[in-house]
Amino acid sequence: MQHPFETPERSAFRQSFSKFVESEITPFADEWDEAGAIPADLHLKAGAMGMFGFGIDEAYGGLGFDDCFMRAAVCEELGKCGATGVGAALGARNISTGPIAALGSEELKQRVLPQILSGEECSSLGVTEPSGGSDVANLRATARRDGNEWVLNGTKTFITGGMTSRYFVIAARTGGPGLSGISLFFLEAGIAGFDRTALERKMGWWCSDQATLFFDECRLPADSLLGPEDRGFIAVMNNFNFERLALIAQSLGMAKLCLSQSIEYVNQRQTFGKRLIEHQVIAHKIADMSARIDSLEAYLSQICWMVNEGPMPVAEISKAKFLSTKILEYCASEAMQIFGGAGYLRGNPVERIYREVKVMAIGGGSEEIMKDLAIRQMGVVE
Ligand SMILES: Cc1cc2nc3c(=O)[nH]c(=O)nc-3n(C[C@H](O)[C@H](O)[C@H](O)COP(=O)(O)OP(=O)(O)OC[C@H]3O[C@@H](n4cnc5c(N)ncnc54)[C@H](O)[C@@H]3O)c2cc1C
Repeated sequence: MQHPFETPERSAFRQSFSKFVESEITPFADEWDEAGAIPADLHLKAGAMGMFGFGIDEAYGGLGFDDCFMRAAVCEELGKCGATGVGAALGARNISTGPIAALGSEELKQRVLPQILSGEECSSLGVTEPSGGSDVANLRATARRDGNEWVLNGTKTFITGGMTSRYFVIAARTGGPGLSGISLFFLEAGIAGFDRTALERKMGWWCSDQATLFFDECRLPADSLLGPEDRGFIAVMNNFNFERLALIAQSLGMAKLCLSQSIEYVNQRQTFGKRLIEHQVIAHKIADMSARIDSLEAYLSQICWMVNEGPMPVAEISKAKFLSTKILEYCASEAMQIFGGAGYLRGNPVERIYREVKVMAIGGGSEEIMKDLAIRQMGVVE
């Protein structure tokens, strides 16, 4: 679909990233997913493509500019590789570099950002806990001040990249109950009192790792605090905006793959003496999928324009997040139906996408939480 915000720079950027995905990722995505990991040098290649540097100064290894359309293009093209775990494995760092760049000390930014943005090291964000991920304001991990140090205690779970990351941004309670008692901390794997175990046997995202992180009297230097004490909740909420945009764009890419795979299949598969596409019911499925995808693409495009113009369109991002995963769910289900038994076999990208719909609908703010947030942002309820 053509859209009015396209520029030669955006289109060239998308094309080069799309070629990168087609040549360096898609042919191997199935193999990596079955193997449970992506190769280390893929991080470096993606870093060299500029995938991690949006909105971050060149002095720290960033691109020195931001463009929401380009951010979205990266995620959409990655979504088309057919194994969303690749995007998760690479992109986990993107949800932790925002707080480091915005709130970290000069020394920290100079020391760690170039390593993370080049793809040399991975970093992760730890917000979710065993007691829950939706209710961020009530998280339970604590950090208490002790002289020149912070002492961190608690558990984080479902942390993407948690087993492989060297650097972490962790949300912990430093003050009283509720949202005004939360702070963010930077820490490095290997410090005393830090341990991690992998979450095994997941439904999807096999080639990205998720971990449970344990903090037992972890002592962090005073300057590990990112931003003002007790003001971490707002930083977490701000950070969610780009994570959600990434998930929307990736869902769009996945839905487009469901459609393109379906179109190819309905043109070759024959039943009752004619091609599947010649059965009206099947042709309508293609039209239904395509209409939903077009509407999501147009919505995302409008949102990218709003993000570039500012202020952050939180209501629209929340609405597009749940809309995108509903559209993805619809497209994955219809594509599976079109493929019949062939869609039920491992190795078919539609089969994997069908399994990976739910992580898109739950991660980074579930559909229910996104609807609550949208309603509040629209001013319909307090
Ligand atoms: C593969 C994967 C990777 C992840 N990566 C990360 C990561 O890198 N970092 C990180 O911090 N977290 C990560 N998460 C966690 C993710 O953000 C949480 O799973 C998500 O926020 C939901 O939290 P929860 O699973 O604890 O569900 P809960 O908060 O326990 O909610 C359970 C269900 O109840 C619904 N619900 C909750 N409250 C309400 C309400 N008030 N009204 C209506 N419905 C409600 C929710 O929508 C959900 O459907 C990851 C999760 C997965 C599955």
